[in-house]
Amino acid sequence: MSSNANTVLVTGGAGYIGSHACKMLANSGFTPVVVDNLSTGFDWAVQWGELEECDVRDGEKLSQIFKRHQPAAVMHFAAKSYVGESVEKPDIYYNNNVIGTMTLLDTMRDHGVPHLVFSSTCATYGIPETIPIDESHPQIPINPYGMSKFIAEQMMADYSRAYGPDYNLRFASLRYFNAAGGDPEAEIGEAHDPETHLIPLVLDVAAGRRDKIQIFGTDYETPDGTCIRDYIHVTDLAEAHVLALKYLQEGGENQFLNLGNNQGFSVREVIETTEKVIGRPIKIEEADRRAGDPAELVSGSTLAEEILGWRPVRADIGIQIEDAWRWHMKFFHHN
Ligand code: UDP
Repeated sequence: MSSNANTVLVTGGAGYIGSHACKMLANSGFTPVVVDNLSTGFDWAVQWGELEECDVRDGEKLSQIFKRHQPAAVMHFAAKSYVGESVEKPDIYYNNNVIGTMTLLDTMRDHGVPHLVFSSTCATYGIPETIPIDESHPQIPINPYGMSKFIAEQMMADYSRAYGPDYNLRFASLRYFNAAGGDPEAEIGEAHDPETHLIPLVLDVAAGRRDKIQIFGTDYETPDGTCIRDYIHVTDLAEAHVLALKYLQEGGENQFLNLGNNQGFSVREVIETTEKVIGRPIKIEEADRRAGDPAELVSGSTLAEEILGWRPVRADIGIQIEDAWRWHMKFFHHN
């Protein structure tokens, strides 16, 4: 089947990470086509390529989009991604993330599209048995969000084993740690509604849009008692997706790869760094633990570097906060 060699269908391309991937794709000579139902994404975030407003569970409409654009590959970001919500409303998560991925896989197979870069998560590992976490760590998700992504990974592997010799799906499943930061040129950035993530909430306090940040748990077994996370810049994530796509197009095998900085920061450290970077005090309130939060999640892997040649360039947490802040100021100034 003929395809447009440079066209990449990006589901969820109107969202936080997907939109940064679109920019990186466009800057790397690809033509992104965004498929997004705009349930949590924004049309303003679609600045590099056409927007096809479509839910990935709508197989018929999706098929028409494949027919129209003849993509050579797919990046799949479209998903629900709130851990807490997934515990209360698992149906939404299995429906969007599992059925959505399955519908996409079927459509890719039906149209002979062989390459998929998938947005996975460290939440597929569950409670870490060992820190740092590498790709061989057991996957025992502890919430429906992590489980839905784990099932999607299994589906991709099963589809990849089946349907040959006419169709051979090959994929890279990228398991992110905590996405942070924003486009260094501040054309796009993080905007969730409601916002639940630490860094944008801390920036809300710095901007005077919120009076304090609650620290969820100060009695964890960590040096300062607060949770430790591995924050990875969204532009570094976007770069990894483009490298993974090129790797698959050059004949690379299926991969499951962690994307993190192999370095953890506590909630208190994030707040203190923000105070330094922005030069404003951040009011805190110590609060109870949030359900489902492991004390520490830190990646320990060089596999993405070995396989893809990927090296995060905006690893510094201060740079991540600065980039997020620049975008935050611009976005909330206009909205
Ligand atoms: N967190 C916090 N206060 C908040 C939001 C988050 O203390 O208002 C903590 C949260 O418990 C976790 C860390 O910050 O330990 C990162 O949370 P976030 O929601 O940003 O990302 P997640 O780790 O859930 O993907």
